[in-house]
Amino acid sequence: MRIIFLGSGGGRNVFATQIRGTGGFIIDNGKTYIHVDPGEGALVRAKMYNIDIRKVRYILVSHVHLDHANDVNAVIDAITLGGIKKRGILLASESVLKETPEFGYPIVRRNYLNYLDHYEVLREYEDENLKVKSIRTKHTDPYTLGMKIEVNDKTIGYTADTRYFPELAKFFENVDVLIANTLYPFGFTSNKHLSLDDAIRLAKLAKPKMLILTHFGKRIIKEGPAKMAEIIEKRTNVRTIAARDGLIVNLEF
Ligand SMILES: [Zn+2]
Repeated sequence: MRIIFLGSGGGRNVFATQIRGTGGFIIDNGKTYIHVDPGEGALVRAKMYNIDIRKVRYILVSHVHLDHANDVNAVIDAITLGGIKKRGILLASESVLKETPEFGYPIVRRNYLNYLDHYEVLREYEDENLKVKSIRTKHTDPYTLGMKIEVNDKTIGYTADTRYFPELAKFFENVDVLIANTLYPFGFTSNKHLSLDDAIRLAKLAKPKMLILTHFGKRIIKEGPAKMAEIIEKRTNVRTIAARDGLIVNLEF
């Protein structure tokens, strides 16, 4: 099993400049691909890193912001051959699937929903390939969902975009891998996003076997995410790596 990063950037500046990609990440369980947060550039980044996007069967979308959801129609198009083959399962936040007062029309087109085998607003989901549990996070899209994804014998936690709150650490307790969207460096507090200080709190309380930092804003990118990951590992004793575009993490521990 492996996780492939089609992006490691986030926030409006990095989205606009694409100095780091915003294509989300893919969990490859050996048979099928689970694509989490197909933001802008997902198809192009997949091509860049020799990933055949047509192997995606599950699309999980945490919220409606474009660095997470922009390419959801494009991925559905790719996996269904433009709707010729009904295929795929989409599990997403309400803001992605439904009309909401905050965001208006849903981001997924109605005809594209009909191309799928199944779609639903993600709460809890289970089938023979995966089990997913979600938690409502605290972000500017009020429908944003963090998730715990059980695939094969591993549990992968994904914070999605959120500020820190104690229930978040509780939700991710003892996961094998925790993927944390840390937009801000040390010394920053935000009511929309995690900082590296929050990543330390999460690592200490949730105690994942591995912490992967991603969704970097321009300030962290300047400071060097790999160096920041080293600091966090030293302070928490949790194995910590910084994602980069095209990074493949093998989960054979
Ligand atoms: Zn967001």
